[in-house]
Amino acid sequence: MPEILVVIEHRKQRVADISLQMLSKGRQLADRAGADLLAVAIGSDVVSFSDELTRWADSVLAVENLAAGEMLAEPSQEILSSVIRERKPFLVLMGHSSFGIDLAPALAIELGTPLITDCIDISLVNGSVRAIRSLYNGKVNAVYSFTPSETIMVTGRIGEFPVEEGNREGKVEWIDFSPEEKHDFKRFEGYTEQEAAGVDITQAEVLISVGRGIKDKSNIEVAERLAHELGGVLACSRPVADYGWLPAEYQVGLSGKTVNPKLYLALGISGAFQHIVGMKGAKMIIAVNRDNKAPIFRVADYGIVDDIFKVIPLLVQKISELRN
Ligand SMILES: Cc1cc2nc3c(=O)[nH]c(=O)nc-3n(C[C@H](O)[C@H](O)[C@H](O)COP(=O)(O)OP(=O)(O)OC[C@H]3O[C@@H](n4cnc5c(N)ncnc54)[C@H](O)[C@@H]3O)c2cc1C
Repeated sequence: MPEILVVIEHRKQRVADISLQMLSKGRQLADRAGADLLAVAIGSDVVSFSDELTRWADSVLAVENLAAGEMLAEPSQEILSSVIRERKPFLVLMGHSSFGIDLAPALAIELGTPLITDCIDISLVNGSVRAIRSLYNGKVNAVYSFTPSETIMVTGRIGEFPVEEGNREGKVEWIDFSPEEKHDFKRFEGYTEQEAAGVDITQAEVLISVGRGIKDKSNIEVAERLAHELGGVLACSRPVADYGWLPAEYQVGLSGKTVNPKLYLALGISGAFQHIVGMKGAKMIIAVNRDNKAPIFRVADYGIVDDIFKVIPLLVQKISELRN
């Protein structure tokens, strides 16, 4: 039976969302191809979630390996290359996460397999794997097909693949693996929790989010006034946090927080996918940007093409009038 293999990522004994996304995609493709879906979970405490994976996978290879611990790429690579050589899956899927970015290129080079990274869709066309990457900040989609190869490897972009309910009843196989190599140049020390800033943007119903278009720290108070009028909370894109205009806890997106407010007002934010992935679950998105081609307008319910420094004071005035 042909196989599709999904590499499972986990943190603190929980399967990472990106792995559930890859499992859902893998299940879809396996059903279409009449293939089996194989999930490979490596690390310490794999036992705590391996049964959960059987809802999507026909079989789960669980490798309890202390060296791989909390997702270290090098020991995982040694184990995976051995599994892939033996099982010869026609497709290997993993997340385009920091772990996937670390692991996939090295694994592909070791095995001599083609690799396409950061894909937003993966399909089978006449039995061949087809992958789509989004280029130039979402302006162009490139479709890739592969030269024939025993195994093809693809990493999927976080947040692009919906999680579908799994209803399989696969089985778990435990594997003993004694690493031949010593992987001691990198080790897992522990997790450091970010200090709370007193604001939890993930709980806010109204978010007034500012991007680089706000231009300077001194202009933050303009947006703050609007947040006050709307009874909302400030949030921001990454450059605003990187410049220190707002604390890191306010950052929305891939390397920030995921938010689901009733209203998300994006002010001077271009709409890079790393930002969109953190806010596309908002019930209503309103974007203000002077560039009518800004990608943020693709996810916005309402858009205003104008200068934020013109629009914000007008909004403050109007809301204040309405409230009075
Ligand atoms: C690994 C990685 C992780 C990342 N994680 C995140 C993340 O978590 N969150 C995140 O946000 N980004 C993240 N990024 C960065 C991301 O790629 C973008 O660079 C970033 O989102 C851009 O922020 P921005 O929209 O504020 O700035 P820009 O892209 O510079 O956009 C500014 C926008 O403001 C508009 N503008 C300028 N002046 C005005 C004005 N006066 N009136 C109206 N509009 C105006 C412009 O037209 C432009 O569209 C990440 C990148 C990488 C590589």
